[in-house]
Amino acid sequence: MYVKIIIDQDAKALDKVFEYVVPADMDISIGMRVYVPFGKRILQGFVVDLTENCEYDQSKLKKIISKIEDFSAIKPEMLDLMQFMAKRNHLKLASILRLFLPAEMREGKVKELFETIYHLKDGFNDDLPKNAKKQIEIINYLRENNGHGSSSELAKFGYGAINTLAKKGVIEKEKREIKRTPFVLSAESKRVTLNASQSHAVETMVEDKTYLLHGVTGSGKTEVYMHIIENVLSQGKNAIMLVPEISLTPQIMSNFKARFGDLVALLHSGLSAGERFDEWKRIFSGEARIAIGARSAIFAPVENVGVIIIDEEHEQSYISESNPRFDTHDVAEFRARYNHCPLILGSATPSIESYERAKQGLYTLVELPVRANGKELPQIQIVDMMSELRAGNSGIFSNQLLADLANVINNKKQAMIFINRRGYSSFLRCRDCGYIAKCVDCDVSLVYHREDNRLKCHYCGKQFKVLTHCPICGSENIKRGAVGTEQVVQKLQEIFPDVKILRMDNDTTSTKNAHQKILSEFKNTLPSILVGTQMIAKGHDFENVVLVGIVDADQSLYHADYRSTERTFQLITQVSGRAGRSENEGKVVLQTYSPRHYVYKFASNYDYKGFFRKEENIRQTSQFPPFTRILRVLFSDHDENYVRELLKMCYTEIEKLRDVYGEQIIYLDAMKSPIKRIQDKYRYQIMMRLKLDKADEIEDKVFSIVDGLAKTSVFFEINPQNLS
Ligand code: ADP
Ligand code: ZN
Ligand code: ZN
Repeated sequence: MYVKIIIDQDAKALDKVFEYVVPADMDISIGMRVYVPFGKRILQGFVVDLTENCEYDQSKLKKIISKIEDFSAIKPEMLDLMQFMAKRNHLKLASILRLFLPAEMREGKVKELFETIYHLKDGFNDDLPKNAKKQIEIINYLRENNGHGSSSELAKFGYGAINTLAKKGVIEKEKREIKRTPFVLSAESKRVTLNASQSHAVETMVEDKTYLLHGVTGSGKTEVYMHIIENVLSQGKNAIMLVPEISLTPQIMSNFKARFGDLVALLHSGLSAGERFDEWKRIFSGEARIAIGARSAIFAPVENVGVIIIDEEHEQSYISESNPRFDTHDVAEFRARYNHCPLILGSATPSIESYERAKQGLYTLVELPVRANGKELPQIQIVDMMSELRAGNSGIFSNQLLADLANVINNKKQAMIFINRRGYSSFLRCRDCGYIAKCVDCDVSLVYHREDNRLKCHYCGKQFKVLTHCPICGSENIKRGAVGTEQVVQKLQEIFPDVKILRMDNDTTSTKNAHQKILSEFKNTLPSILVGTQMIAKGHDFENVVLVGIVDADQSLYHADYRSTERTFQLITQVSGRAGRSENEGKVVLQTYSPRHYVYKFASNYDYKGFFRKEENIRQTSQFPPFTRILRVLFSDHDENYVRELLKMCYTEIEKLRDVYGEQIIYLDAMKSPIKRIQDKYRYQIMMRLKLDKADEIEDKVFSIVDGLAKTSVFFEINPQNLS
């Protein structure tokens, strides 16, 4: 027998299939991982095919050395997915296969955890010598514990005594695997009766199609998902549900655990290596039948999938921005079609792209138009910060927001203050010459962190001392820019000294379970205020929150990104959805310096459709996605001359495509990337905007041109989320 193997190395030269001989006494199946000789080295590989005959010169083929595991870690569906992603995203085969396994498993850093359990054998009649005190204590201990004890429990009696008892045949040893299960807050599973639109949604979304579930915040989408999953399980099938990392709140996790118990496996970044491996194995073996997690859970080894759900489908975190780059929607679509099951995309604010697809009939639109509890959505009041300024208030908070906060506190309720930022206040700027402190390696502005009084680069992590004067003009008038969570907490604490004010952002949640701690403290304190970034915008369901303040709504509006208006609309809707979710009526105060921007009009009226029509119109006339396709080819290398040469060569070739495709290429240019350097690699790019008719074809041509010329890392991005 012969096998075709993909070597587990991320090198361009190895990005193909190699043939090996299977030793006569080795039992090999497709999908297994093996050790193979490669040149002078021994490397790991994935078996992707098994054949009777070989294509290559048989006398030159080498033998597989050994298996890494005894099972096929890569299932057949995933091998098909690999082919699909290689073509669709222009990725190396090994880099795709790596996505399908826990990293620590591939690196051999994590193994099953076993413990030894001792059982007291039946029929033991206390015939131990009187002086064998330790042995008698062990027997007594085991009797008190139904005859069983683990080696760690018995360790205190000494291993000598344990071994003696084992040798005498009084106790029996058993090796048992311990599953490391992630910690989840316990919750009761409350059963609700679905309302009419929820029932309709559950009954409708059962076919082998893609559905767009547009449900206002609080419309009970989670309940719909749970019912659908229940139905799928009862048909003997399994489910995958994706939730953005930041909305994978303790609340959501405990709700699912409460409803489905150990059938749920959780996959998110907060897990330890051991927990991740064990959860993966529970899914792999079929013991867990529902995989819930962030983006990478789309690769969970679930078989016989009955539904795939992508909650908050508009979230940009579903697009992987580091290598290998892929769009989770595409992968989910592939797996749903492979398994002939529904794919459900849920959101209160669908992406313009998805809604457009629903409009064109590619997706089936299903709506949940009202809140599940029948409550109105909270009123959104727009506060003009320019007129506050003119009236002499140059602080962070408008008078309206302060008055509403005072009211909340008097009524012993809760408020959330949303800030679109991280750290104390972001960048350091010279007020005299405009100099901005930047990272010497990455060319991005540094962020000031008050906790350790340092400037930090968020790209490479470098830290710098805080400047006291401007290095360009010498002025001491060097100040911090926009507001951050810490500053807001500090100011609020000055104004409301007796009120509990909590903060939730990347800095306060870096340790394990920090999220849970902050949220449960917030939940249990009345009155209280929770100040936070994007992290507090989603998924949380606190019944006592009656006020949401958005301090600087404009922050996301003026990014150089065609999606920034869409993002702002989404953010406002999501944040507002946190208020008034129960009996208490909610309110939102939105502070802006551009109160007349159309996004605020539509957002404050919860008019998604109105916003969609306006935005659709703008995208169409300005020729932006979803009506065109943007392609970015990003080149990066330590050698700046080399990247520039490569860029020139590629550009010259790509430009020739204009002769063939003419008008189809709306825009083509080569340039430095906005961030010129990251981790000492120089970054250059080719940007293209293409009409949709021939976009696939042109994309393939560009790919083969670049692939033929480049000897360094090149990334292809379609409609990139972030143009840094
Ligand atoms: P969404 O995800 O759409 O924002 P949730 O799923 O968080 O909404 O539901 C909002 C609240 O409504 C939750 O507390 C949920 O338990 C409750 N809920 C959902 N469906 C119903 C229902 N049919 N009747 C009563 N309460 C419901
Ligand atoms: Zn200066
Ligand atoms: Zn840096």
